Amino acid sequence: MFCVECGKEGELIGPLCLECHAKKHVHASVPEFVDVVFCAHCSSLKVGDKWEDVGSVKEAVEQSLMRATTVPKDVSMEGFQVRLTAKDEKTYDAVMDAVLASHGHEFHRTLTATARIKRGVCGECSKQKGSYFEATLQLRGDARVLNRDNEDEMRQRVLDKVAALRANSRGVFVSKVERVRGGLDFYFSTAQAARIVARELQGLRCAEYKESTSLWGVRDGRDMYRVTFLVRLPSFNQGDVISFDSKDWYVKSMSKGLVRCIQLASGEEQHMRLRDLEGCKVSCPSADLKEAVVLMEGDAEIQVLDPVTMSPIDLRKTKGFVRNGDQIRVVKTNLGTYVLSDGW
Ligand SMILES: [Zn+2]
Ligand SMILES: [Zn+2]
Repeated sequence: MFCVECGKEGELIGPLCLECHAKKHVHASVPEFVDVVFCAHCSSLKVGDKWEDVGSVKEAVEQSLMRATTVPKDVSMEGFQVRLTAKDEKTYDAVMDAVLASHGHEFHRTLTATARIKRGVCGECSKQKGSYFEATLQLRGDARVLNRDNEDEMRQRVLDKVAALRANSRGVFVSKVERVRGGLDFYFSTAQAARIVARELQGLRCAEYKESTSLWGVRDGRDMYRVTFLVRLPSFNQGDVISFDSKDWYVKSMSKGLVRCIQLASGEEQHMRLRDLEGCKVSCPSADLKEAVVLMEGDAEIQVLDPVTMSPIDLRKTKGFVRNGDQIRVVKTNLGTYVLSDGW
């Protein structure tokens, strides 16, 4: 039997010798560029219409190259080895050795391609990054309380808490954080998670808390509700000096609606409810408290160097007064000048 193509005698596959058959029918092809698409958020790999978790970038590139390689119908791929050379972080030159089988014979082919790393967004992440939400947490505070630094801190606190909740349930996420007049709006995937976070903020900062539910629409024949949690931060913070009831108070701590205050003139500690402190004013925010050098300390009085005028002033010590260093905090308000115990 002779090969119809080259006339060579020997084993034939159909009308062709092995060599001619291989030349004509046994081939593998791969596009010049193969895109390897990772989710920008969770690093899963795009495989067709689906997203899969992969072990490493290298693994993902190899898988993608193999999937992009095609062979004719009566040819099967028996082996596939990839050698990668990184051109840069996002581009790999690939040389692939493919072992192809046809009619009981093995053939080796070498292919080349360039793999390009791309970023995409998987289905679950796009739901998260989209506008999906079941609850809103509205964090509010007056301008001083929710200034930029504080706002960033509160935002981070909420997101950290969400990350912790998410460890137990992948359905928990914040799809959007919006800066609005007077504060921040967090869009939560579940009302339960929003409630947990709102309650925590309330307890932590002694905030006002409100919960309201509204009918949002119908899905699968069921009424769908959206819940709004309002957390309003008090106008003062721990460490501030506030004036209330014609007296100055140092805010020692705040939690769960309770504020522990120390009256600056007497040193007496009182526990007050937040709502009873309505109308109080911040005389001096904690950041503005000044340190003064101590010149002399007696039983009842202490002499310090006024940090502003640099002249000595005598101040009355309150009962239980404690000093740890050469300097002590002082505060000047409309009502008086006070020295703050290090024990507060
Ligand atoms: Zn031939
Ligand atoms: Zn993702």
